[in-house]
Amino acid sequence: MPLAVLEDRSCEGCTACCAFPPIRTDKLQKPANLLCPHCAEGQGCTVYDVRPAVCRGFYCGWFFLAELGPDWHPNHSGVVIRAEHFDEDTITLLILRLSPFLVSEEFAAMVGGWVAGGVGVEFERVGPPGHLPAKMRMNELLEEAVAARDLRAMHKVFAWSLAHIDRTHVWEPDTIVLRSELG
Ligand code: SF4
Ligand code: SF4
Repeated sequence: MPLAVLEDRSCEGCTACCAFPPIRTDKLQKPANLLCPHCAEGQGCTVYDVRPAVCRGFYCGWFFLAELGPDWHPNHSGVVIRAEHFDEDTITLLILRLSPFLVSEEFAAMVGGWVAGGVGVEFERVGPPGHLPAKMRMNELLEEAVAARDLRAMHKVFAWSLAHIDRTHVWEPDTIVLRSELG
């Protein structure tokens, strides 16, 4: 999969990746799903010049996948595509909120295309603040609906999967203690 950053992409005020990932560096430690103390929500990093390397190097899939239309921007979709597993031919879709985009034709068609093309697709949900996320592999669950090109059936599988994670997963606390020597 391509890893070159597309020139026409920007964060547009999204600060999701200053909240959902855990950060473990010498000067900044932050548990999962907790907004970094240096993030001004909707604006961005207030310690930009000294932000850790892990922050400098992070881009979500919005920056890499040219086939994503404007509705896929995390601000609009509530979905962050995690790029960490691209080299394993897996796409992890972090569902930040249950947005109308999840029941759109565009979302189902793209996910269906990935499944049909043999790409691994995972849905991930953030836990409560300070807790680790939970993932579910979607390919086998979606196989029948994708083969039948049945977008409505795909939407049912999406809804069932997300509800299943939210209702049954036992969220594990992140043991990282918030600490910063920046700024
Ligand atoms: S999730 Fe993507 S769009 Fe949002 S702040 Fe991070 S890199 Fe930017
Ligand atoms: S240091 Fe800056 S870029 Fe890194 S998580 Fe905090 S606010 Fe975001």
